[in-house]
This record gives sequence, structure tokens and C-alpha cells, in this order.
Amino acid sequence: MRGVAGAAGLVLADGPVRAEFPKATQQQAGYIVRNEPQAHMCAQCVYFIGPSDCEVVEGPISPLGTCDYYED
Ligand code: SF4
Repeated sequence: MRGVAGAAGLVLADGPVRAEFPKATQQQAGYIVRNEPQAHMCAQCVYFIGPSDCEVVEGPISPLGTCDYYED
């Protein structure tokens, strides 16, 4: 049994690091876009996926946006 568990662990280790989960809507996240650079904008957030996506909020996402989930 131990060998089976070990083999399963190896398979998991080769899989995706992050679990899949539904993204929040822009409304749920309090997402807004301003027309000029600001503190805490999407372009500086750890969740931003350029050029226009986000790991946790539904896109499209502007680099000049921000939301309640911002994290640097
Ligand atoms: S601030 Fe971060 S979490 Fe929020 S929409 Fe922009 S990139 Fe996504």
C-alpha cells in the first residue's frame, strides 16, 4: 500500500501547482478601471496575466484596473 501511495504522490507532483477554481466576476471583485496610472493597479498585482487577463477575476482585465483582491 505504501508503494501505491508513493506512486500517486509522484503523479500529483507532476500535475498543476494551483487547483482550478471559478474566477470571481468583475462586479464581485469590485473591479474598476481608471484612466491613469495609480497605486495598486492590475499591472503590479501578482494575479495579473498580461496583456489582459487575471488568475482570480474574469477578464478582460486592463493593466490600469484594480479590485478588492489586489495583492503585491
Ligand atoms: S487587481 Fe489583481 S486580482 Fe484584481 S483584477 Fe487586477 S490583476 Fe486581478
